[in-house]
Amino acid sequence: MRLEESEIEAPRLGEPFLLTPGPLTTSYDTKSAMLKDWGSWDGDFRQMTQLMRDQLIEMLGSGNESFDCVPMQGSGSFSVEAMLGSFVPKDGKVLVLSNGAYGQRAAKTLKYLKRDHIVLDKGDYLPPRGEEVAEILATDNDITHVVAVHCETSSGILNPIEEISLATYNAGRKLLIDSMSAFGAILVEPNKIKFEAIVSSANKCIEGVPGFGFILARKSALEAAEGNSHSLCLDLHDQWSHMNKTGQWRYTPPTHVLAAFLVALESHRKEGGVIGRGARYTKNQNALVSGMRSIGFETLLGERWLSPIIVTFFCPADPSFEFTRFYDLMKLKGFIIYPGKLTVVESFRIGCIGQMDEQIMLKVVDAARESLREMGVTDASPPSKALEERKRLQS
Ligand SMILES: *Cc1c(COP(=O)(O)O)cnc(C)c1O
Repeated sequence: MRLEESEIEAPRLGEPFLLTPGPLTTSYDTKSAMLKDWGSWDGDFRQMTQLMRDQLIEMLGSGNESFDCVPMQGSGSFSVEAMLGSFVPKDGKVLVLSNGAYGQRAAKTLKYLKRDHIVLDKGDYLPPRGEEVAEILATDNDITHVVAVHCETSSGILNPIEEISLATYNAGRKLLIDSMSAFGAILVEPNKIKFEAIVSSANKCIEGVPGFGFILARKSALEAAEGNSHSLCLDLHDQWSHMNKTGQWRYTPPTHVLAAFLVALESHRKEGGVIGRGARYTKNQNALVSGMRSIGFETLLGERWLSPIIVTFFCPADPSFEFTRFYDLMKLKGFIIYPGKLTVVESFRIGCIGQMDEQIMLKVVDAARESLREMGVTDASPPSKALEERKRLQS
């Protein structure tokens, strides 16, 4: 039982836990892997790159033989931009499904890339549904691609990617998925959910350090991507064909980050892969949500849409509550939390991913209880308009 023999070590050197959706708390072994220098042209490093690509493809599960993996330097958004610019042809048109900051960023990226697009904007946290996608695709024949965010990290909502995929391919279009914050913890098997490409990065559910992203794409899509990209550096076709020819990244790779990532991948495998990782995060989320509810906090989302990645809580209506003070008090207790991103009501977020288990999440709840007491907040329930908002979501 994990609770007794927890392999999670409290961060050494007195570091706080990062309850954030990446960068997040990594293991000591992962960090230690960066204490060595690697030559990017050397055979050892080329082997490391190939090993990583193979392991990421394997992680997709059934149907992965049609896919290849292309890593890309930079933060996750660089990889999203590389995916959009490489797979959407210059005369293509995209339907962006947006319900938060990352959907909006995808639309903004397409604007920069001068790719024609329309946005289904569901506001802060309503999920885009399959029927809505089907309806839009039926009325607009120019749309070639649909872009969906898997877990919209700004609210923590787990979008219904399966019905979105069905609607997309029933209409003969192609799906590109930003699964940055979910890949590695939630299965997206190509044999069950069809898509052209999926993108994630080193510093989310695989629990590596930041420095690169990766795109898992159909080989047919990678072949067809030649000449599409607006950007030399972000050209996935070029990165892919160069890597297949030489085993090397084009331009300087984040060598230390890759070395750390391989250790993180090994831990992921030992934990039971995507299923094992997802199970720990789900336990984390359950411990967090039931604990926070027991001291009076309310979640933005109902059970149906909660993800095991990150949870949004409403700020208490009590006038003694002040988020920045709460943040500081939590930090003093060793926990870095995350501000909310809602427009209608105040909120904050707590991540469930990274080197943490349910015991640590129970300590987070204790710290929240103690922080409320120190602030003189006697009632953690949210303002009534927050609950009205939530009702709207559930209907
Ligand atoms: C983290 C994240 C990104 C990428 O963000 P970066 O700050 O560029 O790493 C993109 N989409 C989602 C859903 C994310 O959670």
